[in-house]
Amino acid sequence: MKPGPLRYLAPATVEEAVATLRQHPDAKVLAGGQSLIPVLSMRLARPSHLVDLGAIPGLDRVEVSESWVRVGAMVTHARLLADEDAYAVLPLLRQALENVAHPAIRNRGTTVGSIAHADAAGEMPSILVMTDGVVEAIGPDGAREIPAAEFFLGPLETALASDEIVVAVRFGRFPERTFTAFRESARRQGDYALAGAAVAVTVDADHRIVAARAAFVSVTDVPSALDLSGPLGGQLLAKVDWSCIDDAVQAHLAPESDIHAGADYRRMLAGELTRRACAAAAADAMAAGAPAAGGNR
Ligand SMILES: Cc1cc2nc3c(=O)[nH]c(=O)nc-3n(C[C@H](O)[C@H](O)[C@H](O)COP(=O)(O)OP(=O)(O)OC[C@H]3O[C@@H](n4cnc5c(N)ncnc54)[C@H](O)[C@@H]3O)c2cc1C
Repeated sequence: MKPGPLRYLAPATVEEAVATLRQHPDAKVLAGGQSLIPVLSMRLARPSHLVDLGAIPGLDRVEVSESWVRVGAMVTHARLLADEDAYAVLPLLRQALENVAHPAIRNRGTTVGSIAHADAAGEMPSILVMTDGVVEAIGPDGAREIPAAEFFLGPLETALASDEIVVAVRFGRFPERTFTAFRESARRQGDYALAGAAVAVTVDADHRIVAARAAFVSVTDVPSALDLSGPLGGQLLAKVDWSCIDDAVQAHLAPESDIHAGADYRRMLAGELTRRACAAAAADAMAAGAPAAGGNR
């Protein structure tokens, strides 16, 4: 099928794009089009205008600072996946991005687009929440920052107004001696996950866990971080029994059944993937020796 009739616009500035959105309340922002174009083609949405961000300079940058990795609105998944500076300070980005769709989709689809789309089956919304990230938006009243924990309101629903544009997101960096891992399971590689889990485990110089958190894919309505420091805090990596997190993880999940998998199966899968991700992060910590002045892994 083809999209319904619409006008395509390619503004040269963010201000022009915002003014267009304000003028045409039915307009939609177009980034990589990997989620929006299928929706239009199936006529699930019929916007009057498409406002393409692709011609606006400056939205394609990845920047690294002491406390965050900032990703511009037109940075593709593939570009961020390949960014060595971002990987060096926040490996979780690459660990998760490797699981986002297929290379062809990652070459066009943007990380910010997947966050604005707010699909509970998307990997990057969960990573943004887990890193205490921030959404940078610009609208008719100027710029504002929305903490990731307040951005996602429900499946495909965010705190963004219809005349606002996300210009960038900032993923927070973890403390020193934090080790991360991401595990997911899909029916075929590159499909949306039946369930997925990201974990971050922070250890001291003696390999004792001082903090841990997790976030999930496809098993919660809205991406949210789960603090696992309670069950894991104080335990030695070499001796920890990861099943001690099961109750906390299961209480956090709210999976639903669909044609791909039942809720019970997703629940079981998410629990197992979380334990495996914890074990993988712990193995990395032990292999690295968790050096006192070690980098953020
Ligand atoms: C076959 C297939 C498999 C896929 N598998 C996965 C997967 O496993 N995991 C996953 O996470 N994703 C998956 N995707 C989706 C992919 O990651 C998309 O790239 C992403 O969801 C949207 O990014 P985009 O740049 O294409 O956004 P678009 O499709 O251009 O836009 C998506 C939505 O976000 C809005 N939007 C986009 N950018 C902005 C902005 N800067 N400001 C305000 N609103 C904005 C648009 O208006 C639209 O509503 C898959 C897609 C396909 C087609």
